[in-house]
Amino acid sequence: MQETLKILVVDDDEVDRMAVRRALTKAGVQMELSEVGDASRAIAALKNISYDCVFLDYGLPDLDGLTLIKTLRSQEIKVPLIVLTGQGDDQIAVELMKAGATDYLSKSRISSETLAQVLRQSLRVFRAETQVALANKQLRESNELLRRKNQELEAQRQKISLQNIKLLEASKLKSQFVATMSHELRTPMNAIIGFSQMLLRTKSNEFTDKHRDMLQRIFNNGKNLLTLLNEILDFSKLESGNLELKPERFNLSNVVKATVAELHSLALEKKLSVVVHDELKDPMVINDSVRVRQIIVNLLSNAIKFTESGGIQIEISDLPEDRVAIAISDSGIGIPRAELDRIFEAFRQVDQTTTRKYQGTGLGLAIVHSLVQMMLGKITVESELDRGSVFLIELPRQTSSLIPQKIDAKAQESIINSYQKSR
Ligand code: ADP
Repeated sequence: MQETLKILVVDDDEVDRMAVRRALTKAGVQMELSEVGDASRAIAALKNISYDCVFLDYGLPDLDGLTLIKTLRSQEIKVPLIVLTGQGDDQIAVELMKAGATDYLSKSRISSETLAQVLRQSLRVFRAETQVALANKQLRESNELLRRKNQELEAQRQKISLQNIKLLEASKLKSQFVATMSHELRTPMNAIIGFSQMLLRTKSNEFTDKHRDMLQRIFNNGKNLLTLLNEILDFSKLESGNLELKPERFNLSNVVKATVAELHSLALEKKLSVVVHDELKDPMVINDSVRVRQIIVNLLSNAIKFTESGGIQIEISDLPEDRVAIAISDSGIGIPRAELDRIFEAFRQVDQTTTRKYQGTGLGLAIVHSLVQMMLGKITVESELDRGSVFLIELPRQTSSLIPQKIDAKAQESIINSYQKSR
């Protein structure tokens, strides 16, 4: 043993203390040895000085070894305790070990070898025990820390799930409110449109040109407002997952051409050409014709709205794997590259200012995107500023087997996000 050990010998017998001292010196133990003759001085010494090991006589005048060990351990004095017992004290030795002695040795067996061996052994055991106790303490502390963190996390999780429930409820309520309001507003709006149209058709001379101009404005604004209400109603239905597809077998070429014919007057007003290239070998598809028409109306009216000169081309064609394609291209203002990924978000408009030139809610493309998703189709856009844009839709020829489905969670999240951002 190279280190210098601080050793305390507690024994009232001077001869026995000397025997221990001699044996340790002979064994070559480097040490600072202190000696006391009774238990009370031993306790005082151990309270003041930190020893590496204590040799303790079992039979002290003021206290027996067992009570002394219990006292030391109860006072949290941690030191290897080697008890020197009389001959035949084996039963006592067991009690001593139970009470916290590190080892014991019969006084009759004291020699340099036995003492050095029991010292070495006791130091090893004590250090190992200390390390284990330290590791256990650290483990207990990190367990406690983990338990507290877990509690915090659980509290946060509960808070978040509560907020989620509230958010979902609020979002559902909002969608219901929007749907009810739009529905309630549509009825009077239809009356305004219907009656202004009837008055416009009246041949009587009761109306001056000024009156007719006013009636035309009521009619036009009513129609714009109705489109807006329909878009908001559709959007809120899509958002709450209440929009269902009603698949039927129909002729896609006919629906595309009829829709183009309906919007032709808008194109004519701007002197734009609209050409349909029908390359479908089999025009029959199974899908929701009303919703397919709605997709084409939205894309075509955008193409007309955002084009000042030139024209619009609509191409319908067959695709492999029983799919069909509808491409709507225009020679309009185009869309900046940075906006291309975002224009399908609800309320997203390239020009977000209130003084913008082109009217609209910013919901058209979000509705188109969600509808195409529900049809398990795909929509992409390519565009070049001041050159024009191409919106390409790919749809399965048959959507009949599709169960009406809600738009997926990601799309819903993106809709809700962009809705919140836009406010
Ligand atoms: P809006 O009601 O504004 O037309 P949409 O959702 O239909 O809303 O379109 C979103 C935005 O995408 C438009 O405001 C416009 O900036 C851009 N956009 C859509 N279609 C075209 C197009 N054919 N050419 C240029 N920009 C377009």
